[in-house]
Amino acid sequence: MIFVDMAGRKVPALGYGTWAMNGSTCERAVPMAIELGYRHIDTAQVYENEAEVGRGWVASGIPRNELFITTKIARTGNAAAQVAAGLEHSLEKLRTDYVDLLLIHWPSPSVPVAETLDAMARLKSAGKIRALGVSNFTVAHMREAVEGLKRVVVCNQIEYHLLLAQRAVIGYARKHGVAITAYCPIARGKLMGNPVVERAAKKHSRTANQICLRWLLEQPGTLAIPKAASEIHARENISIFDFALDAEDRRGLDALPGDTRLVSPAWAPKWDAA
Ligand code: NAP
Repeated sequence: MIFVDMAGRKVPALGYGTWAMNGSTCERAVPMAIELGYRHIDTAQVYENEAEVGRGWVASGIPRNELFITTKIARTGNAAAQVAAGLEHSLEKLRTDYVDLLLIHWPSPSVPVAETLDAMARLKSAGKIRALGVSNFTVAHMREAVEGLKRVVVCNQIEYHLLLAQRAVIGYARKHGVAITAYCPIARGKLMGNPVVERAAKKHSRTANQICLRWLLEQPGTLAIPKAASEIHARENISIFDFALDAEDRRGLDALPGDTRLVSPAWAPKWDAA
């Protein structure tokens, strides 16, 4: 495993995404992933699977302090009172008395980010969250939180993969010591069959998706949270720590056009140019 420093905590760079995984599928998948070696699990209030994640990690038998659990505040729950109440529900469902990381899932057009971050800071002081971060924040949003409000934001979880370069927001994050967690890290399978990726895959006797994940994790301060309900995919995705890309691979991969965004719902902010 590769680890990324988040405000002094070593976080496993490869996490387990759980969006669109619900019910018994999720409840079975979480202990399966833990058995395979995943120690970092990503969920969100809006995924409506926190209870399954909670039952799943408890069933795995792993001690709580060996797991890194992230959840995210529902998009409509950024007001201070909602943040506190929402986290109480999350903790109950997740069967824990703290989460390792709480994220603002989406910047709000109506609730000031200072209000949400203040509410999160109170939860941190109360020991209910270990760290706070953001998701889907643009450079302007990050600037407001990090420089304007001087808050310790440990990570920005954004869509990031070989087809979406995200140079502006990543450049800002690196400069300010904010980790980047890549969601849709394998671009939902869209890089399978890509000749540049397949060439590297063939050279290293790997799959295209393993090349995508390795490319992300070889970058400083970068985590990735692929979702894989199937055991075969979950195993493949975590089997990337016994090889490395070389300069030739990186030249080809870095040159792929990085302008394909997969996630852009109606409530998304105006994104930075890729
Ligand atoms: P993804 O991880 O890029 O792709 C997931 C898809 O790829 C699933 O259909 C999965 O299939 C398949 N897959 C996984 N590993 C594979 C492999 N080795 N070979 C072939 N297919 C494979 O996309 P994502 O689920 O959208 O993103 C990952 C996680 O990021 C989410 O689960 C969620 O936790 C987080 N996320 C956050 C936000 C946000 O706004 N913060 C937005 C989107 C996602 P199976 O499941 O059938 O194995």
